[in-house]
Amino acid sequence: MAHAVKKLFPDVKLAIGPAIQDGFYYDFDIAKTFTPEDLALIEKEMAAIIKQDSPFVKKNLSKKDALSMFEKMGELYKVELLNDLPDETVTIYEEGGFFDLCRGPHLASTGNIAAFKLLSVAGAYWRGNEKNKMLQRIYGTAFNNSKDLKKYLDFLEEVKKRDHRRLGKELDLFSINDEIGSGLVLWHPNGAIIRKTIEDFWRNEHLKADYKLLYTPHIAKLELWRQSGHLDYYRENMYSPMEIEGVDYELKPMNCPFHLSVYKSNLRSYRNLPIRYAELGTVYRYERSGVLHGLLRVRGFTQDDAHIFCRKDQVEEEIMRVLDFTLFMLRTFGFESYDVYLSTRPEKFVGSPENWEISTNALKMALEAKGLRYMIDPGEGVFYGPKIDVKVKDSLGRSWQCSTIQVDFNNPERFDITYRGTDGREHRPIMIHRALMGSLERFFGVLIEHYAGAFPLWLSPVQLSALTIAERHDAYAEKIVSELSRQGIRVELDADSEKIGNKIRKSSVRKIPYSVIIGDKEVDDNKVTVRRRNGENIGPFTLDELTSFLFEEINSRR
Ligand code: ZN
Repeated sequence: MAHAVKKLFPDVKLAIGPAIQDGFYYDFDIAKTFTPEDLALIEKEMAAIIKQDSPFVKKNLSKKDALSMFEKMGELYKVELLNDLPDETVTIYEEGGFFDLCRGPHLASTGNIAAFKLLSVAGAYWRGNEKNKMLQRIYGTAFNNSKDLKKYLDFLEEVKKRDHRRLGKELDLFSINDEIGSGLVLWHPNGAIIRKTIEDFWRNEHLKADYKLLYTPHIAKLELWRQSGHLDYYRENMYSPMEIEGVDYELKPMNCPFHLSVYKSNLRSYRNLPIRYAELGTVYRYERSGVLHGLLRVRGFTQDDAHIFCRKDQVEEEIMRVLDFTLFMLRTFGFESYDVYLSTRPEKFVGSPENWEISTNALKMALEAKGLRYMIDPGEGVFYGPKIDVKVKDSLGRSWQCSTIQVDFNNPERFDITYRGTDGREHRPIMIHRALMGSLERFFGVLIEHYAGAFPLWLSPVQLSALTIAERHDAYAEKIVSELSRQGIRVELDADSEKIGNKIRKSSVRKIPYSVIIGDKEVDDNKVTVRRRNGENIGPFTLDELTSFLFEEINSRR
């Protein structure tokens, strides 16, 4: 690609061009802006280079010779790269008269390239630093055969169609705008009703699982974050403090210290443990504007957080319960396959090696008891304890980090929390932090893409739309709608004076799971004709049949 670009645009300066997971890119410094037409031209030139079938030849050069050569050519980025290389000899690869600084390896010859495609252009700062010049990055991909390339391009098309930012707008679910601030989410009514449904479900399941619910403030004294260690370990993710009556306060980046404080508000005995506190807790963390991405990476978000305080001998049992809870939660949202990671003790750690050993084993035993296959990330635990991470695979097979379970030896120490043991003495409980979904914002983003915006009935903002054929059917339709609505179905009446075909189309664009069509026949028979969003007609229903049909599906959460 660099060869082709250089041929077409001789003034271009070449920066850097590595292989990446799904293809490759190259950064170019050029006065013009690359257009889609340019990409087509470059592809044509690349095809010609491939056709020539010229071999890639590796050459060893002294760094000095390489420097003077690239200097002469005016390739300043290569000169900068060379100057930073510690090696005394470097390699270049040559093909058809074009050469580039490269470690290799390469294919034997350009003719070996079976299928390729240029995908997009994006701005990229030289060496990823926003103080440097903005270059133009062309992305491309290549495969062994055109069939695999086509498969990959179809996948990209599907990814684009499911992009939660696009669907979020089309389905009026949420927005993020500059007036409010980057990374801060506005939940629109359609998104908010989905969130409320998820929250209700989440809270009810937590109560059933013997958690106690908490609500805690969004700000607290800066001193609290010193005690928790966040000022030492987490400051770069925290916002500047605000002053209230001469005392510094801070927006919370985490909920943990509040839960510790509730634990501490009372004397605890071994008989009280485990204590499980859960909160949908909104936190604020600083992220650079360059890394913010729709709902997936934001600055304000609500964690589905919980903290479990237990005795050493209860850790394994608690972890098993959390694992069960996690899988139940994820399965409810249609995630059936997972990658599970166990992260063990890093070089820098707090707590005794003995406690690390006990907890890491408890995590292992729990994973094994649940028959979960897992990979070990050696040394990747947090400084305060080992952890389990669960990544879900969505309907396109993409992996998303959601759930995390972390054992903590640090905070109980820092906040000096205790319980009275059978021996009448004070003991230190073990703390477990866990989030099942991660955050509501991110989880919602993943859900939108997973379902491609076609939410299951229990989550759908509008569950059913009633469509009338003519004005004379409105009264009957209103009766149906008000009865369904009274029973708790989210239903809408479309009584616009439009053709029924249009109404059906509108309802399916909005991905409403069911519509009922109401015309003369339905009014005469005192029934409705039910249609799924995929166009399937499932026939006439009486109102009673319809409500029990809908509730069965809503309650099954499928
Ligand atoms: Zn926590």
